[in-house]
Amino acid sequence: MKTAVVTGGGSGIGQAVARRLRADGFTVATFDLRADDTDFGYAADVTDPEQIATALASIRAKFGPVTVLVNAAGLDGFKRFANLGFEEWQRVIDINLNGVFHCVQAVLPDMVDAKWGRIVNISSSSAQSGQPFMAHYVSAKSAVNGLTKALALELGPNGITVNAVPPGFIDTPMLRNAEQLRLLGGTIQEHIQRTPVRRVGQPEDIAAACGFLISEEAGYITGQIFGVNGGRNT
Ligand code: NAD
Repeated sequence: MKTAVVTGGGSGIGQAVARRLRADGFTVATFDLRADDTDFGYAADVTDPEQIATALASIRAKFGPVTVLVNAAGLDGFKRFANLGFEEWQRVIDINLNGVFHCVQAVLPDMVDAKWGRIVNISSSSAQSGQPFMAHYVSAKSAVNGLTKALALELGPNGITVNAVPPGFIDTPMLRNAEQLRLLGGTIQEHIQRTPVRRVGQPEDIAAACGFLISEEAGYITGQIFGVNGGRNT
């Protein structure tokens, strides 16, 4: 049985991806800031290489090499650029971009040894469309899309595919929180009227895309930015 790590697995999209991969027959361990008290939930901050290494050592000992990685841990942020402090800029880049760097570097040796691997990076539709008041987040997520393409070319010969799924408008605590703080430019209901498929996305919509990209039959798909957004970004 193949072992997968899903970061941000304690909530929203990461949680749904972990559920989906378990249903697809993978052993799935999750990283998040707080562990969920199961054998499979690890408290590991993706900005901290030591915490990642410790969690991975334990996962490898229990479940074997990790050949699937889904980077879903993320933090959004809303601030007018003129008021955006460098620390806040750095924090958002650190979690959304550097976190992907650390996690890919940590699991890569297992994938290279196995001559097989699947990496899916959860970026954001805001990297495709731009988004006011989210310069730090949009920059980080755009870089994740770029990193995805660069790694796909570099790691393809090792049997490893690397793709990004940029979600748009998915009903998770992150989206609900932004709605509550009136940061969405309208309510979720109002956004639904502007969404071609006329509904808000569910975490399972993202999980389905990840499940496919990780499957054997997706082996010829790499370096792609696979939008899942109800048609809001085409
Ligand atoms: P969420 O807030 O429900 O889940 C994010 C999870 O990441 C949380 O459990 C959080 O604790 C974890 N996390 C944050 N910082 C971490 C760190 N340093 N180390 C480990 N874990 C950390 O949000 P979500 O909507 O499920 O978001 C999942 C991913 O999807 C994020 O990368 C987000 O940027 C992206 N995204 C979401 C939407 C959306 O509409 N919900 C849209 C675009 C992109």
